[in-house]
Amino acid sequence: MSAAAPGPALSAVFDVLFPQVCGGCGCELPVGRGAVPLCGRCRRLLAAEQRRPRGHCSRCGVPVLPEQEVPCLHCRDRDLVFASHEALFDYRGLARELLRQFKFSGRIGFARLFAELLAPRVDAVYRDCTVVPVPARGRRVRSHGYDAVDLVVRQLAAAHGCRTERLLRRRGGRQLKGLGRAQRRASIAGRLRLLRPPPPRPVLLIDDVYTTGATAGECAAVLVAGGASEVRVLTLAQD
Ligand SMILES: [Zn+2]
Ligand SMILES: [Zn+2]
Repeated sequence: MSAAAPGPALSAVFDVLFPQVCGGCGCELPVGRGAVPLCGRCRRLLAAEQRRPRGHCSRCGVPVLPEQEVPCLHCRDRDLVFASHEALFDYRGLARELLRQFKFSGRIGFARLFAELLAPRVDAVYRDCTVVPVPARGRRVRSHGYDAVDLVVRQLAAAHGCRTERLLRRRGGRQLKGLGRAQRRASIAGRLRLLRPPPPRPVLLIDDVYTTGATAGECAAVLVAGGASEVRVLTLAQD
C-alpha cells in the first residue's frame, strides 16, 4: 500500500480550519504543520492512561482478575474467530477525547500519535504479522473526508516500517453506535469484501475502538475464509 501520509495540501487545509491547539487542554502549541497536536503535559497524562500488560483477558481484552482463566467468562462461550485482542487504552478519559477529535473533528494530526503508540507494541509482539486496517464504512469516509484507521496504518508503514496491506473493503452499512452485538453482526455481515488473498503469515487487524468485537470478528472471518493462517487484533481503545 502507499506509504504516504496525508498530502501537504490536505494538511494545509486542516491547519487553517483547525489551528494548532492541544487536543487535551486547549493550550496553544508552538508547532508547525504535521506535528501531533498534544502538549507535553497531556502526553504524559495520556501515557499514564495506557493499559498495563496484565489484568486483561488475552483473548478478548476485557479486564479480568489475575486468577481468572483465559479465555475469560465473557468470551468462553463465544466462537471468536481471532486468536487474540488487546487494546492500548480503555475508551475513556483523555484517550477517548483524542480519539473522538481524530475520528470526527478532522484532527488528522493524531494519526501520527496513535501510530507512535502502536508501533512499539507491533514491533515487540506482532513483528511476524502483516498489518491490515479494519476498513471504514464508505459513508463515513464520504462525510468526514478520511478514514482514521487507514491514516494510522499508513503512518505505521511510513514512519515505523511496518509491513501493511489493505486487504478488506466495506460497503455502506448502518451506524453501529448503540446497536447490540447481534444487530452489529447482522449489519456488518455480507458487506466486507476481500480484495486479494492474505499473505502466508499471520494478520494483525488494527481498529480504533473495540466494543462488542463484532467488527473484528467479521473481518477475521473473511480473512480466515480467504486463507489467513491466524488473525490477531490490536485496537487503540476498548469500550
Ligand atoms: Zn495539553
Ligand atoms: Zn475474554
